Amino acid sequence: MQANIDHQEIQKFSQGHWWDLHDPTYAMLHQLNPVRLKFIEDHVKLQNQNIVDLGCGGGILTEALAKAGAHVSGIDLNEEALAQAKAHAIEHHLPIHYQAIPIEQFATQHPATFDVVTCMEMLEHVPDPESIIAAASHLTKPGGWVFFSTINRSLRAYLEAIVGAEYLLKLLPKGTHDYQKFIKPSELCNAARRYGLELVALNGLDYHFTSKNFSLSPKPQTNYLAAFRHQ
Ligand code: SAH
Repeated sequence: MQANIDHQEIQKFSQGHWWDLHDPTYAMLHQLNPVRLKFIEDHVKLQNQNIVDLGCGGGILTEALAKAGAHVSGIDLNEEALAQAKAHAIEHHLPIHYQAIPIEQFATQHPATFDVVTCMEMLEHVPDPESIIAAASHLTKPGGWVFFSTINRSLRAYLEAIVGAEYLLKLLPKGTHDYQKFIKPSELCNAARRYGLELVALNGLDYHFTSKNFSLSPKPQTNYLAAFRHQ
């Protein structure tokens, strides 16, 4: 089996500093963090939950989950991002376990182990997102939760996430996203259902340029968040 890894995509996240709130590659992830953490907490009480964050990067969400009292592991294949994540967690006395291992391999090693699996802003960077969805399901205990966020494949998303964010407003470096890799909510939900994940909530994420933050919206037009429950 060919590994489900696109090294060029991973390389995009080796530059700069994950914890610099003004770094153009990572600023929007910091701006997304409060709303996605609240979305998760609206469904799950995080205290003492066993959680794995897939494609965790420098640990922006991973640390927020740990601070909320969860036992957290972070998985990524970007060594530079993981080095920054590890250093930052040590500095902040957060006992997070970071590991560089292919997600499918980690899932084979830890079946039905986690109460919660998170995978944010990552599916649109892998060759075979369905394989990651299958792995996320495999990692989750029966009755556990899986949270994904990604970007819709629509004309509006093309205009907002690529033309607007990368070219006009320069909120993200050019080439961060590839339109062909965007995922329609129906595609995410159908794939999730094939692996025993039932949709509980799906919301869009609207970006507010002046206040530099996101809010939940009913329509998943561009960025969106979804909560699934394992059967
Ligand atoms: N989930 C984090 C980071 C999103 S950026 C957050 O939302 O804050 C996308 C991340 O996916 C990068 O850290 C990149 O290295 C990682 N990634 C891309 N392809 C991957 C793969 N095949 N396996 C694991 N991680 C991957």
